[in-house]
Parts: sequence; structure tokens; C-alpha cells
Amino acid sequence: MKLLEAKIKEDGIAVNEHILKVDSFINHQVDPMLMQEMGREIAEHFKDKGITKIATIESSGIAPALMTSIAMNVPMIILKKQPSKILNQDLYQTVVTSFTKETNYELTLSKKYINENDHVLIVDDFLANGEAATAALRLLRMSHATIAGFAVLIEKSFQPGHQKLTSQGIEVFALAKIAKMAENYIEFL
Ligand code: 5GP
Repeated sequence: MKLLEAKIKEDGIAVNEHILKVDSFINHQVDPMLMQEMGREIAEHFKDKGITKIATIESSGIAPALMTSIAMNVPMIILKKQPSKILNQDLYQTVVTSFTKETNYELTLSKKYINENDHVLIVDDFLANGEAATAALRLLRMSHATIAGFAVLIEKSFQPGHQKLTSQGIEVFALAKIAKMAENYIEFL
């Protein structure tokens, strides 16, 4: 998506060869018009797939997921990050290794909101190692929902996430794909 690539070029900050900061338009301050356009683009791509729900991972996936869910007119479900605790019968739970924070956290989904009749599109801000996406897939599989695909604003294509998902048969749709980064340098695929 040219609009997103231009914005990344202008306002994204490549901290080093692994981390891109997009705090001024995606993660901290949100550019609502750009976010709306991105949601529409994702919705357009998946419009004929029979999607019943959008799932995302708390918290930076919420803005793009909400825009997508508005464009598709389906509910959005937030997979919630919670500190580890005793197994709860009303929740599906799984553990995720965080890329940015280098820690583990628990991801949960209430059994009330997704079931075997759902066909779910996962939406997130970044695809890096694919740990968050894989954990989301694990939760959705526990609910016996089917998976329509994984849509992401920014894929860092030099990291293993894309391969990890496609090798499980999951379609990955990325609005911007970064081939290479270095401090203050970004190259798109
Ligand atoms: P993964 O599980 O694919 O390794 O990482 C996914 C999560 O880590 C994303 O949801 C995002 O919140 C965060 N993340 C990964 N790489 C970056 C990055 O380069 N910049 C920012 N701001 N967040 C990232």
C-alpha cells in the first residue's frame, strides 16, 4: 500500500536492523484517516471470504482491527494479555514470547465470543517472528473456529513470521513489506 509506505518513509524510525518505531502514526499517536484506509484495504482483500469476526492482539492491533471490523461490519474480538494465573474454565489461554519486550505473557480468549461457527480474520500491526500470530492461532483453534487469514500493517519480511504462518497454510496479507532495515534506513520488498 503506497500510502503506508510513504508514511513509513516519512515518519517511521528504523532504530536498528530489527526494530521500526511507528509511534507517531500507529502505536502511540494514531493517524485515524490512514488507519481507516488501511482497514478498508484489508476488508476489500478479504471481502468474499465469509468472515464472521476479526480477532486482534491487545493492544496495538486494536486500531487496525477495529477499522477492518467497521469496514466488514463484523465484531472485533481482543485477545487479552493477562498475567499468568490459575486455569479459568471460561477462558482459552496460551503463552506468548514477546518480540519487543523479550518476556513471556499469557494471551486469553473468552469462550463466549468465538466458537466453531466462526470464520476469523486475525489483524495485527506488525509481523516479526510470528509468535503473537501463532499464539492467536492456537487460541482460535481451541475454540474450533476456522481461520480466514492473517492481515498485518507492516511485515518485516526478513524475519521468520511470514514463513511460520504460510507453512501452516495461513494466508498472510501485509500492507507494507520491509525487506531490509538498518539505523535510519528502510528498504521495501
Ligand atoms: P512477533 O510475535 O511477530 O515476533 O511480534 C509481533 C508483535 O511485536 C507485534 O504485534 C508488535 O506489537 C511487536 N513488534 C514486532 N516488531 C516490531 C517493530 O519493529 N516495531 C514495533 N513498534 N513493534 C514490533
